[in-house]
Amino acid sequence: MQVSHPVYDVVVVGGGINGVGVAVDAVGRGLSVFLCEKDDLASHTSSASSKLIHGGLRYLEHKEFRLVREALAEREILLAKAPHIIRPLRFIMPHQPHLRPAWLIRTGLFFYDHLGKREKLAGSKHITFDAATSPLKAEITQGFEYSDCAVDDARLVVLNAIQAREQGAHIATQTRCTSAYRENGLWVIDLENTQGRYTVQAKALVNAAGPWVAQFIQQNLKQKSPYGLRLIQGSHIVVPKIYAGDKAFILQNDDHRIVFAIPYLDQYTLIGTTDHEYQGDLNKVTITQPEMDYLLDVYNDHFKHQLGPQDILYTYSGVRSLCDDESDNPSAITRDYTLALSQEQDAPLLSVFGGKLTTYRKLAESALTHLQPFFPTMKKPWTEKALLPGAENLVSVELLIQQLIQAVQDVSVQLASRWAHAYGSRVWIFLNNISMLHELGQDFRHGLYAQEVDYLVNQEWAITSSDILWRRSKLGLEFTETEIQALDEYLLELHKRRAMSAVA
Ligand SMILES: Cc1cc2nc3c(=O)[nH]c(=O)nc-3n(C[C@H](O)[C@H](O)[C@H](O)COP(=O)(O)OP(=O)(O)OC[C@H]3O[C@@H](n4cnc5c(N)ncnc54)[C@H](O)[C@@H]3O)c2cc1C
Repeated sequence: MQVSHPVYDVVVVGGGINGVGVAVDAVGRGLSVFLCEKDDLASHTSSASSKLIHGGLRYLEHKEFRLVREALAEREILLAKAPHIIRPLRFIMPHQPHLRPAWLIRTGLFFYDHLGKREKLAGSKHITFDAATSPLKAEITQGFEYSDCAVDDARLVVLNAIQAREQGAHIATQTRCTSAYRENGLWVIDLENTQGRYTVQAKALVNAAGPWVAQFIQQNLKQKSPYGLRLIQGSHIVVPKIYAGDKAFILQNDDHRIVFAIPYLDQYTLIGTTDHEYQGDLNKVTITQPEMDYLLDVYNDHFKHQLGPQDILYTYSGVRSLCDDESDNPSAITRDYTLALSQEQDAPLLSVFGGKLTTYRKLAESALTHLQPFFPTMKKPWTEKALLPGAENLVSVELLIQQLIQAVQDVSVQLASRWAHAYGSRVWIFLNNISMLHELGQDFRHGLYAQEVDYLVNQEWAITSSDILWRRSKLGLEFTETEIQALDEYLLELHKRRAMSAVA
């Protein structure tokens, strides 16, 4: 018996920022798209970042002018596309004359201010610190200030996936691509999920498997990777908020690397990142003791208030998949992306090497330019001006917070703010006309109620408590083991009910 498998224009492997970015761009240009992600959306590198939409000041030192120009311009484009999950952030760079002279920093910041289009973000300036009020050590008397943006990295992925689905893409999470081969001018793609195995076909295959990109080509496609890959681990620590104010610090270290200290979720400071070659299991990347010591040392070299290992509340690590440019120093390896096209028998394979959250949209446009010859009727680029879900009809996040406080009688400013930043104008969909918090059903504590959980399961592909607590929200930092267990039990029942109604 002949089995028929659906034929898509494009199948994307990988539900990190680059995979969903390509999927949404492609579907919006009229192509039929299927995306598979072996775990949860954004469950690997795309939720383990420093959460910045930034030009990358230090890349100027490595002469990455193309990347920096593109990234600088993307800051304002992405800020306009998703103002609820992206916000401007001022950075303070304490001046350390023995590490980098003032003229060098001034020159770098001049380029930073002028290389990319900038309308909303303020320019850079020289600053002096008041020894009495500055959180920095007394010997640090001067510095510089400049602008970049902060982003909720995992939600950036989810919002792109929602936008792709709303335009007709099929997004299959918890679905691994086990192998793919070319047959009669098409890709035959084998997939596996908890229900079993199935096959789809595609005219083009996009390999956006992040750190697995080369492994996918070698093991799943049985081909040779066109580029070498350097896997570079980067780790962060989360500590209680260590200084007042809403600015971030960019700290220079003797090894010429830089470390960020970033205000995080009102009550915390995020400190990262490290940079070292990784050879372990890509599914289980965890911080090492030397990395923790390194981050604490760089922080303690700058701040009056000293931190010790006991202050670390949480850590996370991710792996950058960088195109091997044969640099000796992991910090100097190019952060730019490279797209590799192979097109035997007319069925193209496009593999994504490297990339940053900041440049995902441009990377996707470039991917579609590579695929254009295979889809001559494809529509033009469209994502630059398209708002991401939740940005529609959003006058300002501050106004939305006020509206939420008026609409839901007993909501706290903190909770209204979390909702507004996570969902933007779509918060009204999940609230569904309630006027009192208790109408949201079971209270899991820390502002999480059943109605939000249901929404995340029904609309945002959430399955486990980790999906909800670490990626759809960052409530994981607040939840105790017992509270997580209550959420797990609720989810178990919810999935059972959903399975039964699917059968009925
Ligand atoms: C420590 C650190 C800090 C960073 N900070 C920043 C920052 O502040 N700003 C910035 O712009 N960039 C930053 N980056 C870079 C940015 O995070 C990455 O470039 C980006 O997240 C990579 O996305 P990706 O989609 O390529 O990979 P991933 O997010 O890893 O996605 C790849 C996905 O493919 C899936 N997959 C793999 N194989 C298969 C298969 N066979 N079948 C199905 N699915 C599969 C994986 O499960 C994974 O989810 C940082 C990176 C690191 C490591």
